Amino acid sequence: MSQTYKARLTWTGYGFAEDLAVAVSDGAFTNVGPSSEVAGPLEDLGDVALFPGTVNAHGHAFQNVLKGLADDRTFASWRDDVLYPASEKLDAEDIYTSALFAFTEALRAGITTTVDFFYLHDDGNANAREVIRAAKDAGIRLVLARTFYDLDAPTKAPARYREDAVTSARRTRELAEESAGDELISVHPAPHSLHAATPETIGIALEVARDLRVACHLHLAEASYEVEQVKQRYGTTPVRLLEREGLLGPDLLTIHSVWIDDEEIDMLAEAGTAVVHCPGANAFLGDGIARVPEMLAKGVNVGLGPDGGCANNRQSVFQEMRMACLLAKARLTDGSVLTADTALAMGTRVGAELLRSRAGRIQEGCPADMVVLDLSELSLQPPGYLHKHIVNSMTERAVSKVMVGGRWTVIDGKPVQIDGSELNERIARTARKLHSP
Ligand SMILES: [Zn+2]
Repeated sequence: MSQTYKARLTWTGYGFAEDLAVAVSDGAFTNVGPSSEVAGPLEDLGDVALFPGTVNAHGHAFQNVLKGLADDRTFASWRDDVLYPASEKLDAEDIYTSALFAFTEALRAGITTTVDFFYLHDDGNANAREVIRAAKDAGIRLVLARTFYDLDAPTKAPARYREDAVTSARRTRELAEESAGDELISVHPAPHSLHAATPETIGIALEVARDLRVACHLHLAEASYEVEQVKQRYGTTPVRLLEREGLLGPDLLTIHSVWIDDEEIDMLAEAGTAVVHCPGANAFLGDGIARVPEMLAKGVNVGLGPDGGCANNRQSVFQEMRMACLLAKARLTDGSVLTADTALAMGTRVGAELLRSRAGRIQEGCPADMVVLDLSELSLQPPGYLHKHIVNSMTERAVSKVMVGGRWTVIDGKPVQIDGSELNERIARTARKLHSP
């Protein structure tokens, strides 16, 4: 069934155009043009702007229930005193609850595609299926980045994270096969990091990515201690190690990439390796500020991610756009180094491209994922600089509707498929378990 929507303003990729209509059929945009020329039953959405759904290119949904517990700590305490012990307490139902929590929060903030970099495996795929079930129940588009975490990785991480790489590869392929044909779900391989996956493991994950034609996600150089660890273990820095081992390339998607030097940025650019920038999480955990303007100047593609729920603590790509701009400007003491236009692209079409998706744009043939912004909202005033306001001043109150795959998942700021009070009860049940000694 086809439906056409008319709005006062519609984002075309480079600016807002007036009085366009968009036709949606079978989950995709089938026509975008002047409202007088687009056929089909027409719904006038009124004094609103249509903007592409935003793309979260990195997150860990199970961490959403750890908010508060994990706040205001050093990175080592965040990981060793909260993340590791708390993640031992979560059963399959808690994993579903936390994912439903994160995905509902994300949709409400205008995220229509989200990555879940998932590693609470318990030697199988049952828990990953709970995350997929939560995404379908909430109505969000999900990239399940299934983690490879070595059995003998020299960390204090729980046993439930760990598998041998060949098993991880097999299970990633199985999960991808189960989800084939589901428009809303895709499965990517994700070697955890250079401290939890050897170069051999990353090589095996890259093979899976090439076969599935998806990206291979890897945490890289998030905190300065990691650079020292990699130097000690391998005698070189993180990006140089990847290059030496032949692992850089367009299939690799590095997350964070905070602690890298000029020559390493050149290596990423030359190899076509992209970066997911997580400015909010990097600031929250005290990890540093990635050198995004320098990366962009060299031609590295950069997307955005809020990262885990207990490392930010907001699931909003609009917030990450603002954080990316503010941190770059403060670091380089120059208010012009990262503009709203660049941040809008990073949080929409560029992020989608990194995930091998055509989402993130309102264009014929692309998935019908969009947000409807209420132009009467105070945080979008004064009229005339809407693209700047979206990054710099907009609050979530302006997000009145959200569409994923042609279906409204948020109406009047409220999730359509989720009962809010039931969700809160679920979250409280899991939190009681986590907060008890
Ligand atoms: Zn992460």
